[in-house]
Amino acid sequence: MKKCLCLILAGLFVLTGCSKEEDKTAPALELTKSRIQVGLNTKIDYTSFVQKAVDEVDGDLVSAVQYNEVDTSKVGQSQIQYTVKDESGNESQQTLIVDVVKYFKNGIYNPLNVTPDTVKNPDDVTVLVNKVHQIPEGWVPDDLEPVIDNKNQKLRKEANDAYTKFYNAAKSKGIDIYSISGYRTNATQTLYWNNQVKVYGEEYASQYSAYPGRSEHQLGLAIDISYTTQGDRLSEKVATSPIGKFIVSDAYKYGFILRYQKDKVAITNYGYEPWHMRYVGVELATKLHENGLTLEEYYKQ
Ligand SMILES: [Zn+2]
Repeated sequence: MKKCLCLILAGLFVLTGCSKEEDKTAPALELTKSRIQVGLNTKIDYTSFVQKAVDEVDGDLVSAVQYNEVDTSKVGQSQIQYTVKDESGNESQQTLIVDVVKYFKNGIYNPLNVTPDTVKNPDDVTVLVNKVHQIPEGWVPDDLEPVIDNKNQKLRKEANDAYTKFYNAAKSKGIDIYSISGYRTNATQTLYWNNQVKVYGEEYASQYSAYPGRSEHQLGLAIDISYTTQGDRLSEKVATSPIGKFIVSDAYKYGFILRYQKDKVAITNYGYEPWHMRYVGVELATKLHENGLTLEEYYKQ
């Protein structure tokens, strides 16, 4: 009888031991973004940045995600640490960088409000450079060439080959196209930024000019073009000109995107620039064009 009970207990032990496998995998935790900018004294909707929190065994864990709150009462950078644990104690973490900025009335913030990351791939034609991602100090492109219609304006070879094709396509349709501004050195961009601040003030400068080191023109992948060489060549009039329309309809076929669009100001944090084309390659340009995305949205920034 005793022997029998032992066997039964041993059997039960084996059964229960095998029936439930141990959960050793941490839940998958994903955020919608890796970095955000918020205005001074803004209330942050913390849970809105949780894309998913799911565990193989416990299922959906979105409601179990924990996070710290950040102080938005002063300009500066902080982090939200998101943590989620499954029932077996496996934990996952993700970090969201928060830049608290002071927005001007035009919805733009001064680039000096943020401490930018330095990009690791400045040679990559798909690189994201903006107010929070800067080009490494001292980096300069090594394959600059003058563009087809202006020996003083330069682009990197791959972008220039694409620009030549785009230029010829426009010309073959009888469209006027003039290169106004291509590659800029850090020194030129510094002069440009300082002058804009001096003449028009910080609000305007922050809207239409990039802080030195954070300009796509320093990559040798951006070019400003116009329908004229006279007067205010880079104005919203470009948008309604034949070349402005041709940029919107056809630039992506050559690998260019219109970087600062009218309905994306809140995302790019630059004013509408119907003249600023950025080369990203045909594959990515087509993807962005078809999905109506900015580079920031594509990279979930
Ligand atoms: Zn530009």
